[in-house]
Amino acid sequence: MALTRVQGIFTMALLLSGTCYAAVEGPWCYNDNRCGPPTWVSHGHCGDSRQSPIDINTTEAVFNSSLGPVTLSGYDDYRKLREIKNTGKTVYVKLKDGLFLSGNGLPDVYKAKALHFHWGNGASKPGSEHCIDGRQYSMEFHIVHTRNNMSLSDALDDPQGIAVLAFFVQASKSAKGKTAKAWESFSKNLLRIIKKGSDSELKSTVSLQDLIGSTNLAHYYRYSGSLTTPNCNEVVIWTVFVEPILVPRKVVAFFPFCIRSTDSSSGPRLNNNFRPLQGLHNRMVEASAFLKPRLATSRASPPVAFILLLLGISALGVLLL
Ligand SMILES: [Zn+2]
Repeated sequence: MALTRVQGIFTMALLLSGTCYAAVEGPWCYNDNRCGPPTWVSHGHCGDSRQSPIDINTTEAVFNSSLGPVTLSGYDDYRKLREIKNTGKTVYVKLKDGLFLSGNGLPDVYKAKALHFHWGNGASKPGSEHCIDGRQYSMEFHIVHTRNNMSLSDALDDPQGIAVLAFFVQASKSAKGKTAKAWESFSKNLLRIIKKGSDSELKSTVSLQDLIGSTNLAHYYRYSGSLTTPNCNEVVIWTVFVEPILVPRKVVAFFPFCIRSTDSSSGPRLNNNFRPLQGLHNRMVEASAFLKPRLATSRASPPVAFILLLLGISALGVLLL
């Protein structure tokens, strides 16, 4: 029975992380010309026009005063992080029941199912999927939720079936304190999942809230997009938080150092597991309510220097007359 339960968990894990080869037309990968991102257009919806990730142009984002802080429930309970697995494409963490996301702009309550990570190569080569004004961060992690506790297969048939919370991680020498310690503790689990396919019970007392740290849950961008792995289903409401979580450089480097992309502990290291940026096309990115001062400053208030320049030109005009 235990084996059946575990098999069930990881069947769901593979589906959620988009690594189930049976669900697509062939194998896909990140770093090989034969199966890398340019070839993904042959998989499901990957060639469609509402894809993720995107570069978020903050001056083009449309302010929405109804987008307050997201509401998270259960995220401070470390017991919700159940198993950790190396899928060969990512580090995947299965979550227990009882984690909920809600807030304005979301049509329903969403239930967290799992989280996974995207990274670059070491602490100096960034690997986030989304960018903000062209800036790519060291890492990005995604907490995947389904609408009203739908099964994943049902969620994939609903245009708003999945909500993903995206958090940036930035390698920093100044990362200290509780959040830095939580990431150090969490990352020790990577040593037990070096090989693709390996999995382990999580051995830490770190909660999702501990990993998120003091990130302001009122500062985010919202848009409609897709899964970032085949079949790239366009069913995701994205919430991309602005403020990166500062994490020690050694922890960021530990992901590509430990995790292998094959079932050999001496196999190639898994790195640069992020999808390239996709076009925005006809979509709108919304900025949350508490980002208003920043937007108002950049849009509505002309720089003081520019005003002074105009006044100077006017005065010069008067003198010449
Ligand atoms: Zn992801």
